[in-house]
Amino acid sequence: LEPKEEFEHKSLAVDVMRPRRSDPALAVLTQEGMTVAEAEALVESTRYSGFPVVVSQESQRLVGFVLRRDLLISIDHTPMDITVDIFRKLGLRQRLLGIITKKDILKHMAQMANRDPDSILFN
Ligand code: ATP
Repeated sequence: LEPKEEFEHKSLAVDVMRPRRSDPALAVLTQEGMTVAEAEALVESTRYSGFPVVVSQESQRLVGFVLRRDLLISIDHTPMDITVDIFRKLGLRQRLLGIITKKDILKHMAQMANRDPDSILFN
């Protein structure tokens, strides 16, 4: 994204955030009580680049974020609470509502400019 470029449309994060009401729920990891097999199943059943980590499915309190590639590595090697620990130390504990990727914003900007969001080529 080009931070210097003015974006004249007033957009709310909630308009860009995923998942939409009709989409499948946010794919999250839970801080505790999740087995390696469950984490593996989550990675294999989705193609997302990353997964928010929440305290529990019920609370949806955000503790961290794990990249898909790091999760794949940690399933094979190191314990995966390393990233969670970093976020815990930062004191991030917010209720998770959704996720916005850079592409979500670019697509939204294209839509606002009346361009077909899927016609935009991304690197
Ligand atoms: P691409 O995969 O084409 O690079 P992207 O950069 O937007 O797309 P992805 O992580 O694959 O990255 O996200 C694809 C879409 O899914 C986006 O709209 C994003 O908001 C949403 N998304 C990302 N992570 C999750 C998740 N863990 N659970 C649910 N939806 C997600």
